[in-house]
Amino acid sequence: MEFDHLLIRYGEIALKGKNQKKFLVRLQENIQHALKDYSAVKVKRTQGRMFVLLNGQDPEPIMERCQHIFGIHSFSLAIKVENDLNRIKEAALYALKNANHPNTFKVTVRRVNKGFPYRSQELLQELGAHLLMHTDNIKVDVHHPDVEVKVEIRAEGTYITSGLTFGLGGLPVRTGGKTLLLLSGGIDSPVAGFLAMKRGVEVEAVHFHSPPFTSERAKQKVIDLAEKLTYYGYPIKIHLVPFTKLQQKIYQEIPESYAITVMRRMMMRISEAICRNQDILSITTGESLGQVASQTMESMNTINEVTNYPILRPLIAMDKDDIIRISKQIDTYDISIRPFEDCCTIFVPKAPKTNPKRSKVNYFEDKFDFTDLLEETMQGIETIEAGTDKQEEAFRDLL
Ligand code: ATP
Ligand code: MG
Repeated sequence: MEFDHLLIRYGEIALKGKNQKKFLVRLQENIQHALKDYSAVKVKRTQGRMFVLLNGQDPEPIMERCQHIFGIHSFSLAIKVENDLNRIKEAALYALKNANHPNTFKVTVRRVNKGFPYRSQELLQELGAHLLMHTDNIKVDVHHPDVEVKVEIRAEGTYITSGLTFGLGGLPVRTGGKTLLLLSGGIDSPVAGFLAMKRGVEVEAVHFHSPPFTSERAKQKVIDLAEKLTYYGYPIKIHLVPFTKLQQKIYQEIPESYAITVMRRMMMRISEAICRNQDILSITTGESLGQVASQTMESMNTINEVTNYPILRPLIAMDKDDIIRISKQIDTYDISIRPFEDCCTIFVPKAPKTNPKRSKVNYFEDKFDFTDLLEETMQGIETIEAGTDKQEEAFRDLL
């Protein structure tokens, strides 16, 4: 006897009514994708649950992967047996004995298969008695047990678990459309991307760089950050925008205190254009209200004037401490603090306006025609992909 399944519980998906099927099929695909290196493993869907059939694979790395899949509320190692009382007793005892040295336990029964000949109450008594008889120094505690032996009787068999690991929650990636993430090399934007993905959104990234003032290593940093995000979903396209010429022009033509605002507006214009080209319906940033000069209410109002695409700002109300905590959890923090310059830090003016006005910025922008330069910048965009398998790459090279 052994734990040969992972029983997967999903949370919020359960509320999705008629669309539920779509969410579940996607979750199943996402689990399959995350476990694609384990070819023996199968992912099955039944009413209300999802199962990973381990087929002899070591469960540890598979459980680790499941902790990075949005849409999973929790999961447990499970033993599957036929719907037979003796087999269930045996498996329940195995599950209890494999728990982490508990002093107390409790049995719960879910009888999804109403045709099973024992009622839940009878089964609880039978199982409780069996477990007590075949173990030493362990008592029943129905209120605060160290271990809960859960027995789920379904049409196709009975699943017995004695542990539980929480997943990330959220909704399966690719159920919520696509967003264009403005990915800098900083701490905030990767966290913003992670939180957008948590709501089922797929991410494509745009990064503005200013070679030769920004280095190859600054670019690599962004690729590495995107790579970390792919761990929660699929490969991520990164559109690298050569921003140097446009930035230099802005600093020539626009009064210094408004240069940052104009630069941000240019970023938004270019981002929206990329969205239109790629059929992406929203833009996501790592802005948090009041953090720096370009993130005041006035600034956001003025920057936002140039696009009517929805701008998702998952960090808007978060403190820096909380953002840093998540960045450590998703392992982007150490990459973000690598000391490479980014395009905004190079051209940063001494005294940026904290309350730029729409009327003024429009007046300044109208004095110079940036159209050609914007066009040229768009033409220079290079698109790469993070998180693509080496194998897949090699395969593409062969084609
Ligand atoms: P981050 O830590 O994400 O860099 P920040 O606190 O440094 O954020 P800003 O520099 O004001 O804040 O940037 C605000 C947001 O604008 C970023 O979170 C990011 O979404 C976007 N952004 C800034 N610089 C770039 C860039 N070079 N390329 C793409 N997006 C950028
Ligand atoms: Mg930054």
